[in-house]
Amino acid sequence: MGENFAFFLPVMMASFGVVFGFVWSLRVRAAGYWSGAFFCVAGGFAVPAGFALFPTPHWGFVADLLFAGGFLLFSQALLERWRPNWLLWARIGICALSVLLCVVAIALDNLPLELAASDFGCFLLIGLPLIAGRDHLGNWSDRILFGAAALTALDNLVRGSTIPLTLSSGSFLNSDYAFLMQALACVFGLFLALAALAANMLDLLARYQRDAQHDPLSGLLNRRGFDEAIAQRARKLPMQGSMIVCDIDHFKTVNDAHGHALGDRAIVLLAQILARFAPADAITARFGGEEFVLFLPDTHAARAAGIANDIRESIAQEVADELGLSRRLTASFGLSAVQRGDASIHDAIARADAALYEAKTRGRNRVCVRRALAAPDTLATDLKFHAQGA
Ligand code: GH3
Ligand code: MG
Ligand code: MG
Repeated sequence: MGENFAFFLPVMMASFGVVFGFVWSLRVRAAGYWSGAFFCVAGGFAVPAGFALFPTPHWGFVADLLFAGGFLLFSQALLERWRPNWLLWARIGICALSVLLCVVAIALDNLPLELAASDFGCFLLIGLPLIAGRDHLGNWSDRILFGAAALTALDNLVRGSTIPLTLSSGSFLNSDYAFLMQALACVFGLFLALAALAANMLDLLARYQRDAQHDPLSGLLNRRGFDEAIAQRARKLPMQGSMIVCDIDHFKTVNDAHGHALGDRAIVLLAQILARFAPADAITARFGGEEFVLFLPDTHAARAAGIANDIRESIAQEVADELGLSRRLTASFGLSAVQRGDASIHDAIARADAALYEAKTRGRNRVCVRRALAAPDTLATDLKFHAQGA
């Protein structure tokens, strides 16, 4: 049995090292630590094979070093998701102390002491992150990873504590200790690797989803993210509130006169102003170009018009100064309230768009409000805020 594990374990652990290395190449930082940890542990489990090929007494030290280093990397991999750098120096100290004790034990030719120093060191290294992680178990993948790490910690603790019972025979490789170590490492190592892989892949998916739903320039939601945020809210709460659309005035001339890069900075500044004035539960998006949309849940039109006007004034007062423009940069706003008869939120957006069009045709730098879709000749502008000197 021992011989089978002797080949299987290093190959299994090294395979996970390769898989995590690939995940790391997709810019998942923690996967780099997982990869390093599995390669170290693979090396540790390959030591008996190394000993069979080149029998020297140094192999024990090599194994101790690789296990201690591997478990230090496991602890960092776990903490990357919960609390990076938590007790970093203490963990490095535990790793160093464990290796030092192993060296002393080797010098004294005391195998039980060497194994205990290694096992308790590994127990502390993978057990400590659990203290930091217990308050961060928000989703099921974190909870499964926590469980897998706890089992690995327990495995090391129990193994280290039962050395007098399991190391009765003279040779390490034929001992119950070695058999239990390899068998349990196989089960718990596999569990830990799969749990970590699932957590890393979910992180990666979450990142891609975040990227797919956000505009990289302004950091606001894009149209897809806006639709998803609205749909999520609609699943839980009745859709009521106000919709504001905002479009920068004469933006093309700003780009033409000052360049696209300055235009981009104007978009970023505008997004910051929108975020500053938007209530905490507002859904704010850049719909493309220089057009922005804000959904204000549970906000009636008059209150929303006040918010839109505050935003309008801030844009007119701040953006040109901030960018060093000689002429004021302004934006126009269209606003509408969600109606009970609306088929979807896009009805409210269509009304707000119509109000925006009206704001543009009436001279820009203003807020126009539209309550319901109506024939062009009965369009009603309920509220207007004209800019001073516009
Ligand atoms: P209006 O007051 O009628 O809205 O006039 P406008 O010039 O703002 O509108 P128009 O639709 O003619 O031009 C929009 C301009 O927005 C054209 C394009 O150069 C610019 N634009 C769109 N997206 C970006 C972007 O990501 N960065 C920059 N810098 N400019 C952009
Ligand atoms: Mg425009
Ligand atoms: Mg536009």
